[in-house]
Amino acid sequence: MIKYIGLLLLTLALLFSTSGRTETILAIGDDEESVLELASWLYYTPSNEGEGIEQVKRLGSSRWERLTTKYSNRIGIAPFWVKFSVYNYDHTEVDRLLSLANPHLDRVELYHVVQGKVFNKLVMGDKQPFAERPLINNHFVYPFELKPEKLHTFYLKVDTEGSATLPLSLWSQDAFAKNIEATSLSHGFQLGALTAIGLFSLFIAITSRSFSYSYYSGYVLSVTLLVATLQGFAFRFIWPTLPALQQLMIPLLVPLTMLFALLFTEKVLQFKYHNVRMLRICRYGAAYAFLLTITTPFLDYALALYIDITSVLLITALLMGMALIQASRGYKLAKLYSLAWSGMLIGAFITGLMYLGFIELPVNHLTPVMLGLLFEILFMAAILAIRYNDERKAKLRIKQEALVQAQRIRQTREEALLIEANSNEKLEQMVQERTLELEIALRELNEANQKLTEQATIDSLTGVKNRAAFDKRLIAEGRLSRRQQTPMAILMLDIDRFKSINDTYGHLAGDQTLRLIAQTLKENLKRPADLVSRFGGEEFAIILPNTAEEGAVQVAESIRETVADLPVSWENETIPLTISIGVSAEIINSDDQPNNLLEQADKALYRAKNDGRNQVMVYTPEPQ
Ligand code: GH3
Ligand code: MG
Ligand code: MG
Repeated sequence: MIKYIGLLLLTLALLFSTSGRTETILAIGDDEESVLELASWLYYTPSNEGEGIEQVKRLGSSRWERLTTKYSNRIGIAPFWVKFSVYNYDHTEVDRLLSLANPHLDRVELYHVVQGKVFNKLVMGDKQPFAERPLINNHFVYPFELKPEKLHTFYLKVDTEGSATLPLSLWSQDAFAKNIEATSLSHGFQLGALTAIGLFSLFIAITSRSFSYSYYSGYVLSVTLLVATLQGFAFRFIWPTLPALQQLMIPLLVPLTMLFALLFTEKVLQFKYHNVRMLRICRYGAAYAFLLTITTPFLDYALALYIDITSVLLITALLMGMALIQASRGYKLAKLYSLAWSGMLIGAFITGLMYLGFIELPVNHLTPVMLGLLFEILFMAAILAIRYNDERKAKLRIKQEALVQAQRIRQTREEALLIEANSNEKLEQMVQERTLELEIALRELNEANQKLTEQATIDSLTGVKNRAAFDKRLIAEGRLSRRQQTPMAILMLDIDRFKSINDTYGHLAGDQTLRLIAQTLKENLKRPADLVSRFGGEEFAIILPNTAEEGAVQVAESIRETVADLPVSWENETIPLTISIGVSAEIINSDDQPNNLLEQADKALYRAKNDGRNQVMVYTPEPQ
């Protein structure tokens, strides 16, 4: 009871002490599981240059306005003060935690004033190293004790370039612990799922060298890092000692996410094959996003956020539009893609509506957008898998077709080779046959030729060599004799009184006689090199190579005797037949000598005739 009276008194005191406006005070007791949103207890005033806590404390309540989200949810507002008061109506001390759930405020000075005196002061904000926080948490959390029946006023000087949203709440320790447990689980799940998908895609990208998976993993990992940064996890776990990095990461990650989203969309919707204009739009968009990625981190933070958020809205709408157009044209992947994107858009829409107060749901503001994002990313992974599988199938089909084609080509080539080999064999056979025929014909021709040339050297009547053959042989044997220095003999023969044989028995008998003599001469010559020829008319000439005079005379004598002994008959009448022979033999020593030898033999023959015929006469030079 007493505490209510106290509270009443206090309220009245405040009501009358300030001129005009009233300020509401939050009265709490030791309620075990309490959590209080402070939004409706907050008052603000713009901060003036050089104004300290003592001056602000003394400001009249007319200077304080109720803080609305309309005021604080903007980006880049000038520094301002916020205050609220809490009263503990219990008799016992109450432990409470003040939570400020915007981890991106640059700098917040918190003054804990008890009964008008500054009891504690701390500086929070993401420009401070993480370890300086009073309680290690993603959000700024200040634990304090509420002494019984004392008025606690909190002044916060907020100075930030980003959104100045001030989600202040008061927690009992139990409620805070439960909340931490629950949110940690859901955050852990969200980040874990995102990281797992991102890394998985990255590994697939590395092993398969797929561009679409690379872009997708880039998208998922940058989204993950962005979410981790937004939720304060990145600052807490990744760069706790680098507050400066915190200021760079959001303007870096937002356009980077866009860049990957554009590249990935281009791949997944296969603009290269289906729509060149959209491909160009995506590429230009990607170039623009890249430009933002490298420039906006260095711009003024508020300006950077404006540019990035506008770009995100624009590009999201653009991607959705393109996907819908492609989907309406019947592309399967575009339909799935639109569905995935719309999942995230619906989530973002619900979150937006919750922020604006149009709807109220028993979940955290960010939960719908996070669920949408998770849905989108999971769905996209499925789309990628479908696309990858489609591509793989197509590749497989092409490969199989190529294989069949190659097989066909190989078969055709083998057939061609076979045909070629067969025809080659046939051709070779034909050539061989022709060659054989040709060889035979050639041989026959050769033989005929030989016969012909031989015939040309034969005397037709007697069958011994003719005069031309004799002349040729005479030169050849003359050269041989000269080279070998061996004697050569020439025998000149003439049938005795042949004219009378012709006259008495007729020319046919004369011819028969000539044949008989030729036959006899051939038979009498034993050496193969000896040559008998019909020199002309009824005269014969014989060449005896390598034969000296003595031998030649012997041969001549033997011939003469044989002829003389021949039984020659014509129509039962015996024909008396003798021959005279002139012999000359010498070693040849000059070109003229063979002819001289011939003349000498002829002269010897002439002498034999003169000496009475039927005799052999050796040439002797006539005495001068
Ligand atoms: P010799 O030599 O002993 O002095 O007397 P011969 O009668 O043989 O003289 P000659 O040399 O003057 O006569 C050659 C004759 O041989 C002339 C010709 O009628 C004959 N005669 C020449 N050639 C042939 C031939 O081919 N056939 C025949 N039947 N007779 C020929
Ligand atoms: Mg004669
Ligand atoms: Mg004669």
